[in-house]
Amino acid sequence: YEHDAAQAVPQAARPPLDVNLIRRDFPILSERVNGRQLVWLDNAATTQKPQSVIDRISYFYEHENSNIHRAAHELAARATDAYEAAREKVRGFLNARSVNEVVFVRGATEAINLVAQSWGRANIREGDEIVVSHLEHHANIVPWKHLADEKGAKLRVAPVDESGQIILDEYARLLGPRTRLVAFTQVSNALGTITPAKRMVELAHAAGATVLVDGAQSVSHMAVDVQDLDADFFVFSGHKVFAPTGIGVVYGKEAILNATPPWQGGGNMIRDVTFEHIEYHDAPGRFEAGTGNIADAVGLGAAIDYVSALGMDNIARYEHELLLYATRLLKDVPGLTLVGTAADKASVLSFTLAGFKTEDVGAALNKEGIAVRSGHHCAQPILRRFGLEATVRPSLAFYNTCADVDALVSALYRLVSGRR
Ligand code: PLP
Repeated sequence: YEHDAAQAVPQAARPPLDVNLIRRDFPILSERVNGRQLVWLDNAATTQKPQSVIDRISYFYEHENSNIHRAAHELAARATDAYEAAREKVRGFLNARSVNEVVFVRGATEAINLVAQSWGRANIREGDEIVVSHLEHHANIVPWKHLADEKGAKLRVAPVDESGQIILDEYARLLGPRTRLVAFTQVSNALGTITPAKRMVELAHAAGATVLVDGAQSVSHMAVDVQDLDADFFVFSGHKVFAPTGIGVVYGKEAILNATPPWQGGGNMIRDVTFEHIEYHDAPGRFEAGTGNIADAVGLGAAIDYVSALGMDNIARYEHELLLYATRLLKDVPGLTLVGTAADKASVLSFTLAGFKTEDVGAALNKEGIAVRSGHHCAQPILRRFGLEATVRPSLAFYNTCADVDALVSALYRLVSGRR
């Protein structure tokens, strides 16, 4: 069963990106794990950070650290400028119309909870319907289920076909006069499916619904243009796009954000407070109560600079070739079944291996320094749709190479041939 790496001609040997150079920007990729060089294939869980992001955060704490907005001194001005510059970078990254449409939060989970608890509680009523897809991460199910239960609304689910792609006709049939909100992912974290997001937004709007697109898995793999997509809300996590943990974004159309009541109350988000009456700031301030994650927002700005310099289209092209290469090799591993075979896919290769528990595959790979996720990936409904409770999930980023894929495939061949 030995995989002959030499015989496989890597298409990605002609990358538009100089990946060897890029890899030097990520110190952790030189880390050794269990005596081997780390092979990081858990990018759907979180991504590694380039030196420029690490340095930018250090620089903030060395030269700029202050609370923002509130003081008269120099460092407050530096910190505020750095924080607001990061907001402008996010605006540009998403092609939002205005920085007022960019709200900093902790991550995609908090972002979706913010929309559910603010917009949702103000707008969802008894008998309304909230449509999600079968592909969703728990973060895009649980907040809506809470809201639906609280309001007496109904959660409806757009089904997927055998390849793991949303069945557009059935999705369209779910939409109607009761549909108040549609929330779905642009890329599935469990299968890698790229959903027809623009068309889905159009159909939802035609039914009069408001739309949230979960971009947690898309922003690191493809260019996103929120004006073109036309979603009312778009959310993502910084840590999945080479930025630190603890920072994420809600994009919302400005008029919608300003018509939405705040979620959390506290400092920063108010214009005027008396014991009788509170006047809130417009967006984004009204949704940023208290001291936010200033340094990591600045780190997110640096990560956006980094991927923008590489070019999101270059990244998408390179990763697509790498995904095809990995798919071709994995398919031939005896006993391996790929789950999620949609024509449009990004980054993720979910599989089961006959005769092996997924956690045992993960542990065997870990012994060789290869990091993958095994489990339900916080997306139990979609795995159960395929009769599974867990898969092994290698997931790619632009700093991965054919050699990383070869290491994975060789380790799997050793595992199935009992030579480990
Ligand atoms: N949505 C999707 C599609 C995800 O993959 C994830 C994380 O895995 C989330 C939402 C939640 O992101 P976070 O845990 O960063 O809040």
